[in-house]
Amino acid sequence: MNTPEKNAAAVVVDIHTHLAGVGHGGTNCFIAPAKFNSLFFRLMCWQLGITAADHARRLDQAYLERLDWAITTAAANGALAAVVVFAHDRIYTEAGEPQATGQELFVPNEYVFACAERDAMRGKYMPALSVHPYRRDALDETARWIERGAVAMKWLPNSQGMDPRDKRCVPVFDLLAAKKVPLIVHTAGEHTVNVTRPELGNPEVMLPALDRGVTVVMAHSGTKSGLFDNSFLPQFCALARKYPNCWGDTSAFCTPGRTRWIARFLREEGVVEKLLHGSDYPVPPTAWFALGTLGWKKARELNRIPSLLERDVRVKRALGLPDSVFTSAAKVLAPGSLQRWGVGIDEGDKVGNVVLERAEGQTVEPHSSGGGLRKTQEGL
Ligand SMILES: [Zn+2]
Repeated sequence: MNTPEKNAAAVVVDIHTHLAGVGHGGTNCFIAPAKFNSLFFRLMCWQLGITAADHARRLDQAYLERLDWAITTAAANGALAAVVVFAHDRIYTEAGEPQATGQELFVPNEYVFACAERDAMRGKYMPALSVHPYRRDALDETARWIERGAVAMKWLPNSQGMDPRDKRCVPVFDLLAAKKVPLIVHTAGEHTVNVTRPELGNPEVMLPALDRGVTVVMAHSGTKSGLFDNSFLPQFCALARKYPNCWGDTSAFCTPGRTRWIARFLREEGVVEKLLHGSDYPVPPTAWFALGTLGWKKARELNRIPSLLERDVRVKRALGLPDSVFTSAAKVLAPGSLQRWGVGIDEGDKVGNVVLERAEGQTVEPHSSGGGLRKTQEGL
């Protein structure tokens, strides 16, 4: 018999993927031209198969199509059920205004939620909100997107400029704790957008959130990537052991700078159990930096997996990360997230799931634009 717990335990979720765009098709996304034309971004577009024509007129749509394909393929091959996609708020000043210059990346909450709410992709996407805590409407906005089904909140403090120790964060933390919505927060170095305050990459800046009962997921688990980055891995491990509400993610672990940390985490007792799978899509994963463990033949086979989302799962599994890393998201994301977004619910299971969820007194709300659960409830 299928129970929600049984289903949730088997559901593999990638809790760290990015949407992006330049505003084509009215998405309101933004990438600064200097960033957009940089070698790094051009390489990323090439890796994703985004053509020059897409680049000029329909980048946002082409990007989303590639992500849809990557998740659909990964799901069809049994590697992964769904991804958590991130919004990315603007940089705000100390005075609570959007910073006039230096904005590099903006992915509106509205766009992320609209992508996740498409009926055709039901069960594949879950949205994470992004609201800068210095905004005067920070609390209302955070509440609004939680209401619409945010499974997590995402911050990038060392680039977006929020200091989690600032007192303006306190009401936001209290709301997240009350609603049991986790905060996924970037830690250590960052190489996609500019870092303005490197000290905010230290997981210890999240102590006020942890102490107020917020579930915090330290993205990248404090690991160093670039040659000149700080490593905050020891600080992360100490917090993960001390706080039941402190987790980490494995995002970008299959990249040249981070692959080496996987073996280290496998030796860190009491920490590997606190890791959650995240890819950092569109960052391309590679097996080449684990040749010593995998051997040339296996590495080549893994690198030929065309879906970057699937490849990331398979490389990490081949390197020995335990099953719990891939299947623990349901324990950490906002309660009822998988049910709300139809994740891990087979057509034949829907009725059973809804009945059991209700019996346990959990809230299962139908999807706003209609979908599996609504159809199921109408059919009850
Ligand atoms: Zn990321």
